Amino acid sequence: MSDPAKTDSTDQLIVTIDGPAGSGKSTVARLLAKRLNLEFLDTGAMYRGLTARALDRGIHPLDEEYAVVELARHQPMRFDWQTDPPRLYVGDIDVTDRLRDADVTGFVSPVSALAGVRQVLVEAQRRIGREHPRLVTEGRDQGSVVFPKANVKFYLDANTQVRAKRRANQLKEAGKHADLEQIRQQIVERDHRDSTRQVAPLICPEDAQHIDTSDMSLQEVVDLLARRVAERMGARV
Ligand code: C5P
Repeated sequence: MSDPAKTDSTDQLIVTIDGPAGSGKSTVARLLAKRLNLEFLDTGAMYRGLTARALDRGIHPLDEEYAVVELARHQPMRFDWQTDPPRLYVGDIDVTDRLRDADVTGFVSPVSALAGVRQVLVEAQRRIGREHPRLVTEGRDQGSVVFPKANVKFYLDANTQVRAKRRANQLKEAGKHADLEQIRQQIVERDHRDSTRQVAPLICPEDAQHIDTSDMSLQEVVDLLARRVAERMGARV
């Protein structure tokens, strides 16, 4: 089997974007992928998809950790790459419309802290990287754990207030209820859990470019990242 983290092949171009909740990673990663004609992988969606499926099957993520890990092992996850953005299936069930629901957001952090869950999803992400080797991938551990030899690594951050506002706007645009203060508190809690957990905590990899997006527009961030990838990769972009 080939080395999951290998990026020696000349056709391979993996860009990782990590960072805390609401740092704009998902939107930036999607637009950057379009701009550079790469595919886009939202790994947060995978942790959310598993959480949604567990909740919908009546599994309580805090009391039945074993059942959550078993679900991850036996209900393989796949994206339909023909749709834009790709829809996500857990087993045969399309979970795409559940991903941003409040109950899923509330439980996703403890689910993603389970070592057995991470083992399965990290392997699934590396397999996607092999099958889609020109990829922008975003999450918490993409540059640090999943693709340590990625061609270009970014870490996006922004202050908590800005991140809460961005998340609230995202929810409102999706026609969902958004309470700014509640979202801000959830973000603070999720940051704390994601960065202090034992397995694959959220960190800025040493070789990642750290970018504070608090005072930048979406377009400015995408332009900057596209420039940096072009500088690094030249004709391979
Ligand atoms: O990015 P998003 O908010 O969709 O991520 C949801 C949650 O999934 C995060 O709070 C984190 O707990 C978890 N996650 C993770 N590792 C990733 C992506 C997401 O632990 N690579």
